[in-house]
Amino acid sequence: MKRNLRFYFALMFARGTALVLKLIGRKGTSMPGSWAIILCPDFIGRMPKPEKIIGITGTNGKTTVANMIEDVLEDNGIDFICNRSGTNVHTGIASTLIANSHFFGKPKHKLAVFEMDERSAPNFFPYMQPDILLCTNIFRDSYKRNAHAEFILDILNREIPKGTKLVLNADDPLCSSIGPENDRVYYGIDHLDTDKAVCDNIVNDVPVCPKCFGPLVRDVVRYHHIGRVHCENCGYHSPTPDYRATQVDVEHMQMTVEKDGAAHIYPLANANNINIYNSLAAVAMLSEFGLTPEQIQKSFKKMGISETRYSETVANGRKIILHLAKGQNPIACSRAFENIRNAPGKKSVIMFLDDYFDARHTVENTAWFYDTDFEFLNDESIVQIVIAGARHHDTYVRTLLAGVPAERIVHMRNEDDAPAAVTPEADTIFILYDVYTIRLANAIRQKLLEGGKEAAK
Ligand SMILES: [Zn+2]
Repeated sequence: MKRNLRFYFALMFARGTALVLKLIGRKGTSMPGSWAIILCPDFIGRMPKPEKIIGITGTNGKTTVANMIEDVLEDNGIDFICNRSGTNVHTGIASTLIANSHFFGKPKHKLAVFEMDERSAPNFFPYMQPDILLCTNIFRDSYKRNAHAEFILDILNREIPKGTKLVLNADDPLCSSIGPENDRVYYGIDHLDTDKAVCDNIVNDVPVCPKCFGPLVRDVVRYHHIGRVHCENCGYHSPTPDYRATQVDVEHMQMTVEKDGAAHIYPLANANNINIYNSLAAVAMLSEFGLTPEQIQKSFKKMGISETRYSETVANGRKIILHLAKGQNPIACSRAFENIRNAPGKKSVIMFLDDYFDARHTVENTAWFYDTDFEFLNDESIVQIVIAGARHHDTYVRTLLAGVPAERIVHMRNEDDAPAAVTPEADTIFILYDVYTIRLANAIRQKLLEGGKEAAK
């Protein structure tokens, strides 16, 4: 796309906005990009871009995987730009391009790594073609924004440029079906000790063969629709992974990945199923980018899970764990609940899963509670559940329906009252929070830490 007067006006206006924001001490906002796109709707198309673009999309895990990829690239001294501190929609991408360009828009760097929101694909894919695009998985998400899994799949199939090479999850029949005409590689896991005989989740977004809609045989059941499948009716089967995790060794926190007959061992920062997939996805993407296994291994050794997703503190013999559980996303919450059930210790769970900001605009849809596996919380090792927030009554009812005895549940309107309600019986306290409520989660943790000190005195 040619650059016209309108484009230059939008670019200069966005620069001015960025300057004002900087002067008043606000950073990481998508406002410059928003203004650029308001003034010039095809701004991203007209803006000069770095020579190579890596994209990361998918329902769950894209932020974690994008952060891992960025950390490894940085550790290997590779120069790039990314939208890590901004947003993953088109305005965030535009802001990143503007912030990392010379006066008339020429990019300062040769490589860009963009986390890309799958729902916003129509706002950027017509204007920029990633060289490689990774998709972690496709699940149902917030109903209000994402409708259902097929809706998102359809958007991606329509919008992903045909020349983009795809890195796809072979163990997700929805994800692996994306862009059938595109060049692609797959990644997948042979076996995990946590593999199941039957699916114990409420939600399965692939109940029948995606090709002929006949009955589907599930050869490996991992979680929800993730696993290996085949159809005896039409011959459809999960694709063979190019990057195969042949062995996952949870005890030594490492996995063996085979590619073209050569096996390499990579350290794992966290050994729950989701993070094994995240690490494998990052290995596949970084290898496709051109890094050697040695370069990836070296950087993986230094890595932990991003503090904004998961963090552990020990105080007065009690473990306090902050665990992300995206509100309105039944899969993310079900994964968090299963992780909590599987964690050792006597656990208390504090949760405030309300649509914290939406609440002001009265989003009344609580259907997602009934797609979420609260049943995982019905376990002897979970001695208490503390529910707080505007929708505490709804969450309480759902938890009761999951069979959790009423005497194990406390619930209240005010989140600030939650720490005082935690039973001394618990040696591990999980705080489940949404991306938008990290400050509140930290405040609750602080109260728990202070409360612990008081008790110790
Ligand atoms: Zn079939």
